[in-house]
Amino acid sequence: MARADLTIKGGWIVRPEGTFRAGLAIRDGKIAVMAEDDALPPAEQVIDASGKVVMAGLIDPHVHAREPGLTEREDWRTVTMAAAAGGVTTIFDMPNCIPPVNTVDAFTLKRQAAEAKAVVDFGLIAGAGITHIGHIPALAAAGAVAFKTFLHEPYPDRMVEFGGLYATDNGTLMELFAAVARTGRVQCVHAEDNAIVEHATEKLMKAGRRDPLAHCESRPVIAEVEAVAQTVLLAAHTGVRLHLVHVTTGSAAELVETFRARGIRNVTMETCPQYLVLNEETMTRVGPYARMSPPLRPEAERAKLLARFKAGTIDVLGTDHGPHTAAAKERGRDDIFQAPAGAQGLETSLPVMLTLAARGEFDLPFLTRVASQTAARLFGLYPRKGAIAVGSDADLVIVDPHREHTIDRRRFYTKERDAAHVFDGWKATGAPVMTLVRGTVVMRDGEVVGTPGTGRMVTPERVAPAPPEVIR
Ligand SMILES: [Zn+2]
Repeated sequence: MARADLTIKGGWIVRPEGTFRAGLAIRDGKIAVMAEDDALPPAEQVIDASGKVVMAGLIDPHVHAREPGLTEREDWRTVTMAAAAGGVTTIFDMPNCIPPVNTVDAFTLKRQAAEAKAVVDFGLIAGAGITHIGHIPALAAAGAVAFKTFLHEPYPDRMVEFGGLYATDNGTLMELFAAVARTGRVQCVHAEDNAIVEHATEKLMKAGRRDPLAHCESRPVIAEVEAVAQTVLLAAHTGVRLHLVHVTTGSAAELVETFRARGIRNVTMETCPQYLVLNEETMTRVGPYARMSPPLRPEAERAKLLARFKAGTIDVLGTDHGPHTAAAKERGRDDIFQAPAGAQGLETSLPVMLTLAARGEFDLPFLTRVASQTAARLFGLYPRKGAIAVGSDADLVIVDPHREHTIDRRRFYTKERDAAHVFDGWKATGAPVMTLVRGTVVMRDGEVVGTPGTGRMVTPERVAPAPPEVIR
């Protein structure tokens, strides 16, 4: 048998259909053989995974890498180092940066920045904004993995970053959906109703509220539920493959279930670990550092969201990793509305989810489906990504499911670790111990050893990726 570059022996393979004992041989960046350890070919390098589990590397479809333009918050080197540390082998980057990704020129600029520095693979999500609607076909042809539209006008102090990425009324949103539908790509939407948020914010500010919980109250549950209702109806009308990013409430998830039961099948959902395990109490504890949009929710909504997640209603797991500097966050110390919204998540996602698995909330096959396989299928990368199978890219994370540890932001690779308070001090069970991207070890025992420039851009391999009804 031909020599392999690397073999992984002694571990348990986790796939969506189950967990089993097998070894892997990797050649030219791909999984070449999956067999009993004794049946593997000889290799240059042998990794002992005894007592560990081997999962497909996580695919995080919701990351803000911040470069170009906002590199005081994060850059392609640090964001992909954070990914490697967290067992994430592919990230999708959101289009709000400077310049915002609403033209092929801006797309190319970002691609070059990423290719020079990335340690893990990446996909680029382009903006679908009404002022740049004519650019959508060219952005798809350039390799955009999906499109994203914001439903609010840019924040006054973040005008440049969000320019040309939004639609603020249903007429223009419908037109954008129709344009994206023609590309066959996924349309991502941040679903919070702008009018409700603005009205609530104004009332709270007039009443003198500046405390952390005022942020949660300014973006009430109904703002999400109502925006989900509207966008799902517009998606049903236009046929676009709608993907609702960071769904935070059990109520919104239940509403999507109702639509699905009525035959609307072209809608998928993402949620993030923070919404599954934390509630608005965290706001009172870490204040501006936990300001994110949508906000952390009341306990009843969190519990209901986790229940819907476990039931399989929510298709994929993302992080909405969106760093800001500690200095910017501190501006919200006495006035929560002065802190920018967003928090880090790449290095905490897998430990948090492994902890839920250790508690018996769900099993590891379930976790690999929502954290890797489904994103690959939804965005047209499967089975090259998101699978442990012969012929697939050897994007793998080796996990110690029993390791007890305390999450410590001082060990993070994200650039502004001093701002990463959301899960700091959290007691976790389970940790990634090695990450491989296309057969190259990029993280070993918590230390990132991958070289900038290792990461490559991924793009959907079929014109129309697997439709949502195939995913579920
Ligand atoms: Zn985001």
